[in-house]
Amino acid sequence: MAKQNKEKKLKILITASEAVPFAKTGGLADVVGALPLALRKAGHDVRVVIPKYKNINDEKFNIKDTGLKINIDIALTIHTASVKETVFPGTDIPVYLIDNTEFFFRDELYRTPQGEYWDNAERFMYFSRCVVEMLKLIDFKPDVINLNDWHTALIPVYLKTIYTNDDFYKDIATVYSIHNIAYQGLFDKEKLSHACLPPDLFSIDKMEFYGGINYMKGGIVFSDIINTVSKRYRDEIMTPEFGYGLDGVLRTRKDDLYGILNGIDYSIWNPATDKLIYVNYNEESLELKKEVKKKLLEEAGLKYYENIPLIGLVSRLDDQKGLDFIAAIIDEMMRLNLQFIVLGTGDEKYHILFNQIKTKYPEKISVNIKFDNKLAHNIYAGSDMFLMPSRFEPCGLGQMISLKYGTVPIVRETGGLADTVTQYNFKTKQGNGFVFSGYDPYALLYAIKIAVDTYKNKTVWERLQLNGMKANFSWDESAKEYVEIYKKAMDKYNKIL
Ligand code: ADP
Repeated sequence: MAKQNKEKKLKILITASEAVPFAKTGGLADVVGALPLALRKAGHDVRVVIPKYKNINDEKFNIKDTGLKINIDIALTIHTASVKETVFPGTDIPVYLIDNTEFFFRDELYRTPQGEYWDNAERFMYFSRCVVEMLKLIDFKPDVINLNDWHTALIPVYLKTIYTNDDFYKDIATVYSIHNIAYQGLFDKEKLSHACLPPDLFSIDKMEFYGGINYMKGGIVFSDIINTVSKRYRDEIMTPEFGYGLDGVLRTRKDDLYGILNGIDYSIWNPATDKLIYVNYNEESLELKKEVKKKLLEEAGLKYYENIPLIGLVSRLDDQKGLDFIAAIIDEMMRLNLQFIVLGTGDEKYHILFNQIKTKYPEKISVNIKFDNKLAHNIYAGSDMFLMPSRFEPCGLGQMISLKYGTVPIVRETGGLADTVTQYNFKTKQGNGFVFSGYDPYALLYAIKIAVDTYKNKTVWERLQLNGMKANFSWDESAKEYVEIYKKAMDKYNKIL
């Protein structure tokens, strides 16, 4: 009996506000674009639902209209959506797109440079309710719905309130994945009536949050199982320092809270096969890595020196990423024997900061304020070290990518960085990077100094590189853990006994 249960193939619906290759603003899209593929490979019936944004091209993705229509009341007005359909390119995994021009036919996903869209509460309550209604129309009753971040957090709230008497929905399990607790979906309490949700949700044990409502809190309270994207971040978000006000409610759900590390897509991120990098290399041909470095420096207008390490940084330029630490120590850092290449966009104050640094140290630093995938690949490959001093980091992909490219990460011991990078031990020769733990710019400077000094010892350095290149953070492993938590959620409905 137990064996049979283990092999049960699940019906899984994954829903989110973005998914690679259709729409992406961050790591959430990478997860929703990769996890379904690994689950399908393991034999599960997995399907995905996202909004149909303006920039998702019908011809490019071969999107068809199913002819199905959904009518939803938002703020006393009926809004009609069409259900569109395609598959993830090269797979048979269905992707449904909720198409409503008024809410989703816009240039951006959530915000313009002027700020958030004014009706984000309505846009995503609408999307969430459409997802629920759509299941009946397409006659797909999943064993489990995996919802992601605040945008889809109302789904379990709907299931446990206005759909509770509907037999179709009553034993669908829910798993809520938190990718970044800093973004919660905070709105006025009046939005509950816009969403046709009962007013008693406005209470401290449900969705109330400092006088308003909090979508993410709804997801945490009403889902069967909750997970986040690393084990360390799972522990951290239950503390006031990292919980952004939700640590208390998460502590009440401690026994249902898991941490599963995101995977890396090694068909994209592999120095042996990467088509975007100047020269390919592997563990046996590490000496070719410096050919990438030479070309990268040449393109950046910096000189190549055999014995001077190049530190790379590829990041959203946001307070989360610990860039103020770099600002605080930049003069001391620039006095060290190193070069620095930065790629990122984001907060205007960091654009200004890095351009000022560039003006001050034109021979040591290259600053690239833009989103540039090819340059990112070449920085991962061509740098000697990769800097990620984040204040908090739910999972982080940059450090996992750099490990694969033999580029030694220098990270702060937090979240997914702590789970993937271990301090090199000079005695045991174990460890794959440099890890500092203080919440202090000088702890970062100290780690950089040790890294730059260690770089002089070529034998030790190569050992560090090879330790990193051996790491395996594939999606296949993480997908197995997802299936385990899906089963735990289903278990609450006595579906796997
Ligand atoms: P987050 O999701 O918090 O932004 P992650 O480290 O999880 O951070 O993922 C960021 C991803 O986006 C990485 O793959 C990184 O290489 C990529 N990235 C970030 N900024 C840029 C940029 N300016 N150009 C190209 N790629 C970028």
